[in-house]
Amino acid sequence: MYDVTIIGCGVIGASIAYTLSQYKLNVLVLERENDVATGTTKANSAIVHAGYDPEPGTLMAKLNVRGCAMMEDLTRRLSVEYKRVGSLVLAFDEADRATLQHIYENGIANGVPGLEMISAEKAREMEPALADTVVAALWAPSAGIVDPWGLCIAEAEVAVRNGVTLKLRSGVSAIRDLGEHYEIETASGTYESRYIVNCAGLWCEDICNMTGGAPFTTTPSRGEYYLLDKSSGNTVSRVIFQCPSKVGKGVLVAPTVHGNLIVGPNAEDIADPFDVSCTAPGLAEVATAARKSVPNVNLRDSIRNFAGVRANTNMSDFMIEPSKTSPRMLQVCGIKSPGLASSPAIAEYAAEQLEAMMGVKFEKNENFVDGRTQVRFRKMSPAEKAELVAKNPLYGRVICRCETITEGEIVDAIHSPIPPCSIDGIKRRAGAGMGRCQGGFCGPRVLEILSRELGLDRKDILQDKDGTIIITGETKTGGAKA
Ligand SMILES: Cc1cc2nc3c(=O)[nH]c(=O)nc-3n(C[C@H](O)[C@H](O)[C@H](O)COP(=O)(O)OP(=O)(O)OC[C@H]3O[C@@H](n4cnc5c(N)ncnc54)[C@H](O)[C@@H]3O)c2cc1C
Repeated sequence: MYDVTIIGCGVIGASIAYTLSQYKLNVLVLERENDVATGTTKANSAIVHAGYDPEPGTLMAKLNVRGCAMMEDLTRRLSVEYKRVGSLVLAFDEADRATLQHIYENGIANGVPGLEMISAEKAREMEPALADTVVAALWAPSAGIVDPWGLCIAEAEVAVRNGVTLKLRSGVSAIRDLGEHYEIETASGTYESRYIVNCAGLWCEDICNMTGGAPFTTTPSRGEYYLLDKSSGNTVSRVIFQCPSKVGKGVLVAPTVHGNLIVGPNAEDIADPFDVSCTAPGLAEVATAARKSVPNVNLRDSIRNFAGVRANTNMSDFMIEPSKTSPRMLQVCGIKSPGLASSPAIAEYAAEQLEAMMGVKFEKNENFVDGRTQVRFRKMSPAEKAELVAKNPLYGRVICRCETITEGEIVDAIHSPIPPCSIDGIKRRAGAGMGRCQGGFCGPRVLEILSRELGLDRKDILQDKDGTIIITGETKTGGAKA
């Protein structure tokens, strides 16, 4: 019998698992896919918003500002890439100026530190690539950029290392409330748990429907992106937003923690929450909007287009409260943007709700070991590299040439607390395949290493989700050799 079962292991489920692993609780995490961080957490703008967008008094405002403040320390402890680069919201006309004033006042009321309304000249001094048509800007120095899937994986790894049980390929199909505990039916078996935390993102509504009905409806909203090569990575050095509208925070141009430039997203309501296709009209919309802020943004430098799907609901705020129909289930629903930025604070608040509103006993786990280290070969000094290679020659063998990722780092990822079973799982952990050739060169070598280290046939190594088979049969020569 588990004390608490978390359904869904995106950044929200992982943050809550990480937080709960600091207490003497028997925690289970159920994730439908073959890895963590494969839902909305994998495909978003990766911005740690400062917290001026949400309306004052909302849970979103409180948790965004708190999450943003927590992020630097958390990412340092967990060896996750993060940079506090700050953000600018641009105004192009008088209507935008009024919007800037509104979000500035929101920000002040929400307690966002260092907010400043600045002139167009000052904004262009900070970011010379900005359009001449900018008339004013809002400067938020506390905003940052983060590796979103890296954060989720790190939190889930530390949780697992501290005793949390993670079951992958365990989509929940039915929940029975037996009064004192739940029976949870999944693709990997039936589990018993006293409490449930619903963190299923776009599928939260389905989980609610298994326990008496959902108090909200979900409308998936897709956002498409360009990811530009590192040669464009310095086009701007801060996050450049336009004024927010009813459909979201608009198209941004921003550096990424990996050194690329990200451009997007648009917002389009869609029927299928799994639909992450990119479309010509969607990308054209993104291109036009991005050029309004940064006219010389070089979209020919694009190395990848991708799309993410927002869990938009008919609620304007996050919902983090016990279910009205099944009170031992905590709803963590409607976690749209700024869900990533807020995630550490959402986890803290969820734990408070479990204790104060639902009676879960929280006793500190004295054996909890925080923190995580990760070798990042390309960031080391020549002396550090030499020392590492002398200890383990696998670090002297570069597999991903675009990103300088070594075999040692890939092997580390394979033997991490949540071993990946796919080439993209390696990409999300070690960074191999993130560069200009997008795995064209290193993909077959990563496949070989995965097959060797996991003792699996090459035909069983996936590109990403279940079903994404790469090799269907061997050639006469036995296929690619590492
Ligand atoms: C285009 C876009 C841009 C964004 N930009 C930002 C940004 O810059 N900053 C920011 O703060 N936020 C941003 N967000 C929002 C942020 O990405 C989300 O708030 C956050 O990733 C939500 O995480 P999650 O864990 O709730 O959802 P997910 O990552 O989707 O995780 C939910 C998990 O539940 C699993 N699941 C579903 N059903 C079941 C089931 N029945 N059984 C078991 N498991 C199940 C899924 O497989 C999935 O892994 C953006 C979102 C989008 C789409």
